[in-house]
Amino acid sequence: MSNSDFGLIGLAVMGQNLVLNVESRGFQVSVYNRTTSVTEEFVAAHPDKKLVGTSTLEEFVQSLATPRKVMIMVKAGGPVDAVIESLIPLLDQGDIIIDGGNSLYTDTERRDKYCSEAGMRFIGAGVSGGEEGALKGPSIMPGGPESTWEVMKPIFESISAKVDGEPCVVHIGEGGAGHFVKMVHNGIEYGDMQLICEAYNIFKAAGFSNEELADIFADWNEGDLESFLIEITANIFKQKDPETGKDIVDLIVDKAGQKGTGRWTVMGSVEQAVPFSTIAGSVEARILSSMRDQRKVASGILEGPDNWTCDLAGLSKEDLVAKVRNALYASKIVSYAQGLDLISKVGADKGWDLKLGEIAKIWRGGCIIRARFLNRITEAYQSDTPPTNLMLSPFFTEVLNKGQQDWREVVALAATNGIPVPSFGGSLAYYDAYRAERLPANLLQAQRDFFGAHTYERTDKPEGEFFHTEDWP
Ligand code: NAP
Repeated sequence: MSNSDFGLIGLAVMGQNLVLNVESRGFQVSVYNRTTSVTEEFVAAHPDKKLVGTSTLEEFVQSLATPRKVMIMVKAGGPVDAVIESLIPLLDQGDIIIDGGNSLYTDTERRDKYCSEAGMRFIGAGVSGGEEGALKGPSIMPGGPESTWEVMKPIFESISAKVDGEPCVVHIGEGGAGHFVKMVHNGIEYGDMQLICEAYNIFKAAGFSNEELADIFADWNEGDLESFLIEITANIFKQKDPETGKDIVDLIVDKAGQKGTGRWTVMGSVEQAVPFSTIAGSVEARILSSMRDQRKVASGILEGPDNWTCDLAGLSKEDLVAKVRNALYASKIVSYAQGLDLISKVGADKGWDLKLGEIAKIWRGGCIIRARFLNRITEAYQSDTPPTNLMLSPFFTEVLNKGQQDWREVVALAATNGIPVPSFGGSLAYYDAYRAERLPANLLQAQRDFFGAHTYERTDKPEGEFFHTEDWP
């Protein structure tokens, strides 16, 4: 057998599906997994595929055509370093190592430097779309030297999702740019999921059945909110538990897991001083959901309205659905505005020259946040006058201006009925603060000057002149 075009290390769910995807595009693929039995079972399960199973890293490396293209799909963190450490002595100068896992972008920057000092070429590529995306076509966000991208481009373009014939992969930028953008993508994914859950919580409290919910989300999926997450949400409400015949969603414990990319994104936003209320709300919501024991105790101590009998204050169910839809859409716009703002700030800081329109474009297919409205984001950033904030792009401004009253009513309704809406509410607060000509920070500056002589500027004096009051009472 001739040498393989591509090699992949790490045959868990993502690795196996990516291998099958690469192979299906006509490439021969060598595979290696730390636990050899996994490799053996995988290769045995696909006898008709051009796969080369290897049981040692030496055998794996030898089976690859040069320059070697080795993709690592192992658990993020230490395992990636361990694999790189073992690989480097076996590779030749100029071979390419691709880390396709959810690595923290600062780790990618460190690995990029380490590998290039060892004479290797390194690509840190975010891969989105889960198991199905990996198999059928993910959205890929590769970072690293342009010249290395050019070598990888044919394989990445052939395995990625396609929308309107365009591959959902583009060279994001140098070093850690790909993993950084993938991290923010995951943060946005957290926000999208939480907004849907907040809408669900309001509808549940208002007495909607799961059948009604399935119809609402299916209907939303026909319009501007069309997206993978809205679509699967509609389907989730239809799923019965085979054991009990009940709706599966009602049997699932209300305790959310997380692997860390949402938290990393929020930490990045704090470091960069980018307001991030929608996604921060979604991370906090997951954390609070995981505090189930405390919530159980508190539910019998701390008082509030009975949130399982939402008082619709005279609204019909149809009106509520329309208002919640507008609240969700407006909050989603804020979430993307904040995520793109973070991308733009970090990109400028790192000199990555990130193209927001291109990034939104490759998120249109393959990935979890794929959605119709990403086309509008691409249009906004590829226009002659790209907005400083997504909310200021004419299309989105109009949606926000039309929906803002409903958004307020939904947040107020939730608050009155004791329904937590951290991401709806946080998004609205951002919107109102962003559009406020005057905020109460004058008082804050006075407080800072009072206790710490931090000084302040005055409205009646030129900007940049600072004052201090010596004799605060
Ligand atoms: P995973 O559960 O994150 O990792 C399991 C794989 O890592 C196995 O192949 C395992 O080998 C290997 N591994 C763990 N520690 C190792 C070590 N010290 N040395 C060598 N190999 C080691 O797998 P996954 O869910 O397929 O995800 C792979 C990567 O893609 C992760 O970074 C993940 O965050 C990212 N990702 C996952 C998804 C998803 O939907 N699952 C989506 C996008 C991105 P053994 O079999 O020997 O234990």
